[in-house]
Amino acid sequence: MDKPEEILKQYWGFDSFRPLQKDIIVELLENRDVIALLPTGGGKSLCFQVPALIKPGICIVISPLVALMEDQVKALQAKNIKAMALTGGIAFKEVDTMLDNCIYGNYKFLYLSPERLQQELVQERIKQMQVNLIAIDEAHCISQWGHDFRPAYRNIAILRELKPEVNMVGLTATATLPVVKDIAQQLELKDVKILQKSFLRENLAYMVREAEDKNYYLEQLLKEHDEAAIIYVRTRKATIELEQFLVKKGISATSFHGGLQKTEKSSRLQKWLKDEKRVMVATSAFGMGIDKAGVRTVIHMNLPESLESYFQEAGRAGRDGKPAKAVILTNKSDIPLLKNQFLATLPGVDIVRLVYKKLNSYFRIAYGEGEGEEHYFNFYQFCLKYELNTLLAYNAMLLLDRVSVLSLSEQFQKKTRIQFLISGKKVTWYLEGNPQSDPVVKAILRTYGGAFDNMVDLNLEFIAGKAGTSSQETVKLLQQLHKEGIVEFEHHQHDTKITFLVPREDDITINPLTPYIKLQEKTKKEKISQVLSYVTNDRQCKSQQLLHYFGEKETEPCGICSVCEPTTTKLTREEMKKIYFAIIGLLEEREYSSREMTQRLPFPEDHMIKVLEILVEKGALATTTTNKYKLKHL
Ligand code: ADP
Ligand code: MG
Repeated sequence: MDKPEEILKQYWGFDSFRPLQKDIIVELLENRDVIALLPTGGGKSLCFQVPALIKPGICIVISPLVALMEDQVKALQAKNIKAMALTGGIAFKEVDTMLDNCIYGNYKFLYLSPERLQQELVQERIKQMQVNLIAIDEAHCISQWGHDFRPAYRNIAILRELKPEVNMVGLTATATLPVVKDIAQQLELKDVKILQKSFLRENLAYMVREAEDKNYYLEQLLKEHDEAAIIYVRTRKATIELEQFLVKKGISATSFHGGLQKTEKSSRLQKWLKDEKRVMVATSAFGMGIDKAGVRTVIHMNLPESLESYFQEAGRAGRDGKPAKAVILTNKSDIPLLKNQFLATLPGVDIVRLVYKKLNSYFRIAYGEGEGEEHYFNFYQFCLKYELNTLLAYNAMLLLDRVSVLSLSEQFQKKTRIQFLISGKKVTWYLEGNPQSDPVVKAILRTYGGAFDNMVDLNLEFIAGKAGTSSQETVKLLQQLHKEGIVEFEHHQHDTKITFLVPREDDITINPLTPYIKLQEKTKKEKISQVLSYVTNDRQCKSQQLLHYFGEKETEPCGICSVCEPTTTKLTREEMKKIYFAIIGLLEEREYSSREMTQRLPFPEDHMIKVLEILVEKGALATTTTNKYKLKHL
């Protein structure tokens, strides 16, 4: 039998294991059930992949997201390891063939969505497989106490019946004690070994800062250094606006959200990873597989939705072990905002029913049909057509995804088609009167001979390039020609792919979801109240608060968070200068009280007060009758 180290070197090229990886692997090689808790990026995949490569047979991996599965399968295939992923949207016959390959084709890894596991065909074939290990990735999804409960995960226990002798490992980055217990119970783990790396991050200072003007405060925070940073915001629109704000302030920035096209996503990510762009402004869609060591600061412009997600996002700072900060910027408007934006957009049963019905009419799915069908569409246009609130509708669709009624993914697809409705001669006349249309029209006619006879698929970028203009301009021009009756023109930008997983049965599909929907609402409310308590509790060390939340009780105050930070540290000349310029900068706009300034500037209050005193003493500042400060020369 090969040694784990040899496998690690042979396939991954790494010389040594990371903390806890080896322990997990050893337990699995000794045929024990394991729950492994390692932070994101800690290297969980290796923990089941290495033992699976050592033992004869195939490893079954359950994972909640298609994208995660596809990434891992690709990574394995790149190492010449036979692996496949069975996700939704694959036809029955194909599934059959794929499973045959698994049994007879020496495959080492079979990735399955929990929905697939429900199918009898899949279950039958698994019985015939020589399975060496069952790995449950993102195992917290099985628990309703977790922040990411997926009912279909409950079906995983069927693997216990199918393969009673095979060991299981559940892997997760975030789980509280009740969730860990729940995982063990739901998976029916025997003599389970729980291996957990402490969630303590010694070099990471957790901060909660009150800031009236968040953008201004952010700017000051980013001026503390010139290293990489991530800023989390709630909406797609906010990513764009904040990126523009930072660029205007001379700070190198890019942005990221789920609605971007794949190529755009990876190009922006690459620029940030290579330090060509310094700051990444993102929604929580940013994070999967992000493994950048030198992030100095992670800033949340809004309150996070759960401490689990906060811990993961904040934890992207300081992976290199050097001092780093995770800051939440907050002010009075946050709490009502969280309640309005977040709780008010939790979909109730009625909304879920409505959205499901509308989706079925949109794609013209008849009663009893639709199972396995894939559809691309523009989410915004769908909402517009049925006058649905986009956030509510989106959350309703997410919910339908979670309960395995459908599978939702953000995928771009463009479709542009055109046909000329008038003769070639008339087109020539038209162009004489409208020379601005000439380059585009000629480029189309030269490229697509058939465009007079029927609708042809148009490659927009290609035509725009040929005509020496942009795709956007080309679309505008063609829409104009369409209005004038010269062409038939269709232009769709699809951003969402939906796969129906069960046949349409209206109330029979939706009614059973009621308890889950209620439960989700309750859990989300609890998660939010935990966030609020974290943000407002200024008596206990922030790091301790987080560690307690994740079940670590014996902890010491960290000494560096916004609760612990020393209130009277020595003020260096350098810092004094920084504070001095920041104060002058502020007072050039108008008068401020010291409290207002502290809320706008990222410096400790006592330092601010010290510098203010000196400035007043030296006669640079004066105080007003309302206890505000102003510049003396004004
Ligand atoms: P997780 O699932 O815990 O978030 P992954 O399994 O995706 O983490 O691994 C994160 C990254 O760490 C991957 O790029 C992986 O190749 C790398 N990695 C894992 N183990 C080691 C190791 N022992 N030495 C070096 N790199 C490792
Ligand atoms: Mg992982």
